[in-house]
Amino acid sequence: MQNLQEQASTCNCGHHEKITLETVEIGNDALEQVAQYTERRQFQRMVLVVDNNTFEAAGERLQQLLSSEAEAIITLCTIDPNASGDVVADEASIVQLMLSVEPGITDVIIAVGAGTIHDITRFAAYHMHVPFISVPTAPSVDGFTSKGAPVLLRGSKITIPASGPIAIFADSGVLTQAPQELIAAGFGDMLGKYTSLLDWQYGRHTAGEPYCEAAYRITRDALVACVSQAEAIGARTEQGIRTLTEALIASGLAMLLFGQSHPASGAEHHLSHYWEMAYLRRGKRQLLHGAKVAVACAEVARMYRELAAEGDPALFPEPVRAELLARIAADVPEPSRLRELLRTVGAPVSPDELGVDEELLHRSLQEAQHVRPNRHTLLKAFNEQRLSTLH
Ligand SMILES: [Zn+2]
Ligand SMILES: [Zn+2]
Repeated sequence: MQNLQEQASTCNCGHHEKITLETVEIGNDALEQVAQYTERRQFQRMVLVVDNNTFEAAGERLQQLLSSEAEAIITLCTIDPNASGDVVADEASIVQLMLSVEPGITDVIIAVGAGTIHDITRFAAYHMHVPFISVPTAPSVDGFTSKGAPVLLRGSKITIPASGPIAIFADSGVLTQAPQELIAAGFGDMLGKYTSLLDWQYGRHTAGEPYCEAAYRITRDALVACVSQAEAIGARTEQGIRTLTEALIASGLAMLLFGQSHPASGAEHHLSHYWEMAYLRRGKRQLLHGAKVAVACAEVARMYRELAAEGDPALFPEPVRAELLARIAADVPEPSRLRELLRTVGAPVSPDELGVDEELLHRSLQEAQHVRPNRHTLLKAFNEQRLSTLH
């Protein structure tokens, strides 16, 4: 938080949003600190949102800690899995939580879980005008602080306005015990910044997309820190998990500061979203967000490096040509390097390992920009250029 404020104070881009997040605590006593915080804020009626796994991982202990305060009245809301056994952010889960929250009476909602529990909570918190506290149980995504909730409505995924948390308490004891695939997914979500940051530079220079140097630097530093700790993250050491957690939170804060997702989401996220929609249509079980983002990042990196080598002036126009080509060469790693990093943390390294078939991959590389039509990525520029030469 302090670093964020320092970085923000040196940037005069004119795009900074006010950040309403009050507190970020990362450490091995973060659960205890939740209880101190709610006492200080005089929150008495609290709804604790968990699923069966996160209740065991942290919810039960947090419930005990909060109950030690005499005035506290805690309602436990255990979100039920759907028919395929997954806890998802859909109508049913949202209504389940909303029925546990009493408008005008509930003081705070506490989300104890990974991305999905947070998405359910931020939607309900926003619509019921109740603040919420984030207690992540896995360092799996950079979206804990997000003000948008991706939810499933009638089987389609849409992102709707929602609340960000007023405080985050990330307990390293809990996070180091998270399932390895969730840790690997969090690392994958960070790795995706290699291409999202490049796309941001591309959009800024070729299409006048808004830009913030502080948000860029915060995200880039978080990415570099994460990559330097890949071994430790794969081995789930406390230091490794702490670095990953800090990086994910920093990336989320950079988006809050800038008010838009440019720093953290480029073509790799559009591919991931495209695959997700295809999986929903086929009724296939969803893949982890960060696992998709990382594999997509390697595919996009391969494409961008090839495009830079070809150097088509229509894609890399003057006067920004040299800068863009240099950035791709310096900032977008070889796909083999990205795969090596993914292997280090135990993540899927290829579309094949992930379960994305050749046809879907091919189609997504041609069409994924439509997921976010106003975002000027190099993928979008390439596909528009390709289509214009066909006609
Ligand atoms: Zn992401
Ligand atoms: Zn700025």
